[in-house]
Amino acid sequence: MNIIIFGPPGAGKGTQSDNLVKDFNLIKVSTGDLLRDEIKKGSLLGKNIEKIIDKGKFVPDKIINDLIEIILSKKDYLNRLIFDGFPRNLNQVKSFEYLLKTYNQKISCVFTLNVDKKNILKRILGRQICSQCGLIFNIYFKPANKTNHNCDSKYLIRRSDDNEKTIADRYATYVKETFPILKYYQKQNLLHEINGMNEIERIYKEICSIMGSLET
Ligand code: AMP
Repeated sequence: MNIIIFGPPGAGKGTQSDNLVKDFNLIKVSTGDLLRDEIKKGSLLGKNIEKIIDKGKFVPDKIINDLIEIILSKKDYLNRLIFDGFPRNLNQVKSFEYLLKTYNQKISCVFTLNVDKKNILKRILGRQICSQCGLIFNIYFKPANKTNHNCDSKYLIRRSDDNEKTIADRYATYVKETFPILKYYQKQNLLHEINGMNEIERIYKEICSIMGSLET
């Protein structure tokens, strides 16, 4: 089944997606990660993307849709995807619907993690990502340690857009552009609202119980 997970920046989408990937044999599609991969390559496109991300703005839809099409066209990934950070606006939803039809796929379930602005700030400022394995930690809520992380702690880094100024811009962009999408999925009876301010394990339990109730 294909799943989408929504939530403002820092809501815990990446952490919950990583759990689902492990337990349900899914493949995570994080457009943010794909864009950061392009930045790492140092290409001209990557340099342009970096400027946009560091301002907390959205990368043009055409770039995003091309990345998504590459993923949706892979036969090995058929109906095994979890989308984190996509779609982000109504235009992306429209292109997504078209691509899903083209590649004979559908969305089975949509989660949205509700977290208020105060908590978001704390979460983002505490966020650490391992540059080796990609796992996400938080110095306040989920510190990396020997049992949950195999790489050396020197690889734990902060994202360049995880600063107070950019967070405010990213949050405002989310409310303006992404929030309206939720109504679209609600109308299709696909949306499940989750209290994203609970503990990570409790949120995951709730997500799993919804997953268990879905027809495969
Ligand atoms: P994320 O890792 O999902 O927090 O995304 C980091 C940044 O990448 C966002 O603030 C945007 O600048 C950009 N980005 C990620 N996904 C998208 C998308 N679907 N559409 C446009 N921009 C995106």
